[in-house]
Amino acid sequence: MCQTISNFINGEVVQSRGGRTSPVFNPATGEQSGALGLASAEDVRAAVLAARAAFPGWANTPPLRRARILNRFLQILDDRIDELAQIITAEHGKVLSDAKGEIQRGMEVVEFATGAPQLLKGEITENVGTRVDSHSLRQPLGVVAGITPFNFPAMVPMWMFPVALACGNTFILKPYERDPSASLLLAKWLVEAGLPPGIFNVIQGDKQAVDGLLTDPDVAAVSFVGSTPIARYIYETAARHGKRCQALGGAKNHMIVMPDADMDQAVDALIGAAYGSAGERCMAISVAVPIGDTTAQRLIEKLAPKVQGLNIGPGTDPEAEMGPLITKQHLEKVRAYIDSGVEDGAELLVDGRNFKRQGYEKGYFIGGTLFDRVTTDMKIHREEVFGPVLAVVRATSTITPPISSINTSSVTAPPYSPEMATRLENSPTKFRSAWWVLTCRSRFRWLFIRSAAGKHHSSATTTCTARKEFDSIQNSKPLRRGGRQVSGRALSSSCQR
Ligand code: NAD
Repeated sequence: MCQTISNFINGEVVQSRGGRTSPVFNPATGEQSGALGLASAEDVRAAVLAARAAFPGWANTPPLRRARILNRFLQILDDRIDELAQIITAEHGKVLSDAKGEIQRGMEVVEFATGAPQLLKGEITENVGTRVDSHSLRQPLGVVAGITPFNFPAMVPMWMFPVALACGNTFILKPYERDPSASLLLAKWLVEAGLPPGIFNVIQGDKQAVDGLLTDPDVAAVSFVGSTPIARYIYETAARHGKRCQALGGAKNHMIVMPDADMDQAVDALIGAAYGSAGERCMAISVAVPIGDTTAQRLIEKLAPKVQGLNIGPGTDPEAEMGPLITKQHLEKVRAYIDSGVEDGAELLVDGRNFKRQGYEKGYFIGGTLFDRVTTDMKIHREEVFGPVLAVVRATSTITPPISSINTSSVTAPPYSPEMATRLENSPTKFRSAWWVLTCRSRFRWLFIRSAAGKHHSSATTTCTARKEFDSIQNSKPLRRGGRQVSGRALSSSCQR
């Protein structure tokens, strides 16, 4: 049945008034499951006015009381994780265990935000000048907005609103158009947790809704996560309208495989990081850089059969390791990238273009794809594919060529092991962003507002010691009462993004 998906304004589900709609599909079946009412400028303004009216009361609510509401929200998320995961899978397509994984990552931010009473403490410095003391206070900005991408319909919003709300801001979320239902459930649960009306609102829409938020004089700050060109647009437009803005864009992540790497572990890590969530993660590894031909050969011999053998199916199938892509258009785009790799002369070892899953012929499925002998000038190396396509770029037997190739795409990483640290000590790699740094940054999002738009890049190297770090981070769970474990066959990565 095709359901109507609406906005959530001032504590109520409200239909869009503009009359425009956009279909929502189940990516596993290709069938339409919903019709999204696209918000008009009038709808956006209504949400802003509701958030503006709610702001003074919320800003003056003691942080401890705000934190209590978030604590109850956290408990609801924990109790009903399956319900939310099913909604994510139905509209995004990812396997259920991946959907639960993203909710858990989001819950970690809610958990962090419940510490706001301590985090919001100010500072006093006496005698910064004669008879002059300095006080610094942490105060909310007002109405703030979050514009989020399709690939994490629960986690990315939860990077933003828990901290914004804990700090006393009121919030307007503009989720992606193809998987909008998770945002409404989050809104409903926040109300159930005790959040008064107007403090958290959801505007469903496209560019028109985004532009409404970016130009509205009552919106103080905008947080964006999505593709790099749109990140740039959001940042520039928000800045032109006097707003604080952080805009996180796309990525191209490399994994350097050293000659001394444990190849089973390297292959395991690559399968999870390149093919998990069908490669629709900004932190997906899309390029493997084995050092030396012997390393490349050993890697490919073990990797190719595993890529070929991936179990691909609907996200509700507990045996499936990877689900479909989000839309038909995205499926065509990823296929076109594979075509371009072939045309540019890369060696296609595993071709996922014609994959079909019996009983789901109309779903947006694609098989895992593996290229060897990719060069840095090829489109599949230069651009973000955002699909289950791994490019192997063979490097000569020293670390320098891969580092320079990584640097041409501005990709950076910290050393993972003491051995790597020594090797990279004097390397020209620019250590600009590592995934755990991003994790911290996203948690502090509304406390320290970033002022940079555009790409972030990262890379990983794998050795035996690296794997231990991957495991220990991956296995860490949020502290929750009666916390449950996510299980399933999804291809996990050290980061859900
Ligand atoms: P997208 O840029 O197409 O969409 C993101 C948001 O922008 C959506 O809400 C969409 O409605 C809106 N939007 C799209 N076009 C617009 C326009 N012309 N004007 C105004 N608003 C517009 O991104 P996506 O395809 O949903 O997400 C995938 C991208 O997000 C990938 O590039 C991925 O790497 C990136 N991503 C980055 C991070 C990170 O932490 N940096 C995390 C997740 C995803």
